[in-house]
Amino acid sequence: MSDRFKGMVLEGKLDLPFSYSAGRTASRFFIELRDHQRIMGKRCPRCNRVIVPAQLFCKECFTKTDDWVEVGPEGTLITFTVVYRKESHHPKDAPLAYGIIRLDGADTSLVHLLAETDVAQLQPGRRVRAVFSKKRIGHILDINHFEMA
Ligand SMILES: [Zn+2]
Repeated sequence: MSDRFKGMVLEGKLDLPFSYSAGRTASRFFIELRDHQRIMGKRCPRCNRVIVPAQLFCKECFTKTDDWVEVGPEGTLITFTVVYRKESHHPKDAPLAYGIIRLDGADTSLVHLLAETDVAQLQPGRRVRAVFSKKRIGHILDINHFEMA
């Protein structure tokens, strides 16, 4: 058999707008951000973890979550990364920093933007605080970023 028709790898790029149904749990999470500037999690009735952002099921024990719990708006920076390369999929121009943040009252962490991009200031264990956007639309970026507390 000839190699003439060997499989090829073709390069491409997709940039597709899309819509999806967020479901009741995620919808409430985003509505609380938009209308009340509250960050909400849900408590797992079996393992007692508070999951943020709120999820319908606990990923640890697969139990349906019950109680809504307000967390933050302050928390602890677990770790971070600073991005120096401009890419269209980032919500801000470079340099920008992403942090993994454990909000007060939560047992899971949230990935979000940090105002600080100076690695000398970004230390795990630093306290951070959510800064909400003035114009909120029901989106994770209704939290504009986290600043040093
Ligand atoms: Zn659980």
